[in-house]
Amino acid sequence: MSELAHTGADARWIDRAIELATTNVAAGGGPFGAVIVADGVLLAEGQNRVTATLDPTAHAEIVAIRAACLSRGDFSLAGATLYTSCEPCPMCQAAALWARVGRVVFAADRHDAARGGFDDREFYELVTRDRATWPVVIDTVRPPHATEPFDTWLANDGRTDY
Ligand SMILES: [Zn+2]
Repeated sequence: MSELAHTGADARWIDRAIELATTNVAAGGGPFGAVIVADGVLLAEGQNRVTATLDPTAHAEIVAIRAACLSRGDFSLAGATLYTSCEPCPMCQAAALWARVGRVVFAADRHDAARGGFDDREFYELVTRDRATWPVVIDTVRPPHATEPFDTWLANDGRTDY
């Protein structure tokens, strides 16, 4: 990770992400915005929609990833750049990995988010600790057919790998 100068195309897109975040607050939403760009062309924009849609996963980056995939007609965003007003939380960072986004650029960081009352930094720290210490109970039940879905998947020659 490196801190780049606020110039050129990066500056323009990060400014748009910040603008989306700020205007979302005025609209009653959370202070987060994101845009996804490929080959200099805007694929999609996203604003935090957690409270508006009663969806705790509706972070700006997730909203933008979903819209960008629909725009591209593909579940892969390979080669695309995700610009986001704030450092992606672990969920959004993982979503960017799943989407095969090539580059992530953020403005504010997890410490700025913490000052705003958001759990990004806490969750980053949490994932480095033993799950026994998490505020969610995680158990496993492993019957003999636990791997049946994967066996079925691997036996399906018509599957779409992702
Ligand atoms: Zn997030």
